[in-house]
Amino acid sequence: MKNNDSLEKIISLCKRRGFVYQNSEIYGGIQGFYDYGPLGVEMKNNIKKLWWEEMTKNHENVVGIDGAIITHPKVWEASGHVQNFTDPLVDCKKCKKRFRADHLLEKIIIEESGAADEDVIASLTKALKGKKCPECGGELTKPRRFNLLVEVGLGVVEGEKNKTYLRGEACQNIYLNYENVLDSLHLKIPFGIIQIGKAFRNEITPKQFLFRQREFEQWDLQWFVNPKEMEKWYEYWRKERMKWYQELIEKKENIRFRKHEKDELAHYAKIAYDIEYKTPFGWKEWEGIHWRGNWDLSRHGQYAKKDFTYTDPETKEKFIPWIVETSGGVDRTFLFLLLDAYREEKERVVLSLHPKVAPYTVAVFPLLANKEKLTKQAKEIFNNLKEYFNVAWDDRGNIGKRYYAQDEIGTPLCVTVDFQSLEDKTATIRDRDTMKQERVAIDKLGDFLQTKLK
Ligand code: ATP
Repeated sequence: MKNNDSLEKIISLCKRRGFVYQNSEIYGGIQGFYDYGPLGVEMKNNIKKLWWEEMTKNHENVVGIDGAIITHPKVWEASGHVQNFTDPLVDCKKCKKRFRADHLLEKIIIEESGAADEDVIASLTKALKGKKCPECGGELTKPRRFNLLVEVGLGVVEGEKNKTYLRGEACQNIYLNYENVLDSLHLKIPFGIIQIGKAFRNEITPKQFLFRQREFEQWDLQWFVNPKEMEKWYEYWRKERMKWYQELIEKKENIRFRKHEKDELAHYAKIAYDIEYKTPFGWKEWEGIHWRGNWDLSRHGQYAKKDFTYTDPETKEKFIPWIVETSGGVDRTFLFLLLDAYREEKERVVLSLHPKVAPYTVAVFPLLANKEKLTKQAKEIFNNLKEYFNVAWDDRGNIGKRYYAQDEIGTPLCVTVDFQSLEDKTATIRDRDTMKQERVAIDKLGDFLQTKLK
């Protein structure tokens, strides 16, 4: 299978089996927006639950919030987004296509937030010299900047609306609520606040399906530390996050760290790593592990005229907390897990998804739909298992087809009730990955599945 074919196949499977649809498809679609279907939303919720539990249950001193998508417009001035959240773009003079200037280069040459704007544009202009349009070979314009924040107007009277923005990154709510959370829960540094939430960016070239959208979901941890302990905690979270992603995928060779070059670093960052995944369109960012220093709290302190100095209750040491950020994409996780799990075998397509991620953990079938006794027994099993697992029901077509249909959506196990079940109270369990079948006592099914899925 050619590399790009695999993305096309995932897109087609997503539509066919109800994972993801193009948004507003009946009107011809709208670029950079997608809707999750019945199976997609189950899988996405499973992924988010796994992350949430990993952060709050497997780590101490991490609590969550769920902030509003719209905030005071000053937030985006303080964060630097109004001034800096821009992409340098070039247009093709011939075919009129527009590209991100840095995407036309082999190497990102400079990070915008650290350097003066003229320097960025000048160095991009130099690096792009002689480059032609990748689509038609036409001549390119000089790079120009466009802001990525999506504006909204609040109010009902035209001409009197207040301009603000849909959040360009979800993490800002965490800085805004840092003090609230600290005070209401009496936390001590080091501690972390997490959030999963939507972010909006006027991406110029939304592409590669869920990879680059205009509306997407992020998960963030902001870990507040004493500056003296920054190095230790940065390393800690970097390793923790990699370990978590590695456990979710089968093809371990497709994940790596990429250390940011010195000239890519934001001015407040001493070090930055991306966790990257090897997609059919190259190694791509999955999550960023960022050294943010005291940049965020200092900026909000300055703009909101507040003092975020923290006093250590034991040593009485005073400091503005520094931040380790881990910021990843929910939709990218969804896509990368599908890419990792997709397999074509002789007669079947299989998604070998992690059992905790798969939309259904188990499917239950009566061997024949028109035999009342079989259906009744199968329904009983279905209802019992439903209390503990996401369970699918299928009684259409023949049993082989049903197995293949479940393989294609990643259901790890199928339970079939046949005539023997009526006599000896056992059912057949069939494994997605090995295709092996075994008989298990019906009253032991719950325990069996629990152990198997661990
Ligand atoms: P990129 O360089 O790919 O544009 P970024 O460095 O701007 O990403 P961050 O601002 O660090 O991304 O956002 C954190 C995470 O949010 C990213 O690691 C990625 O997983 C996800 N993300 C960012 N932009 C998008 C997008 N347009 N569509 C889907 N996910 C995104």
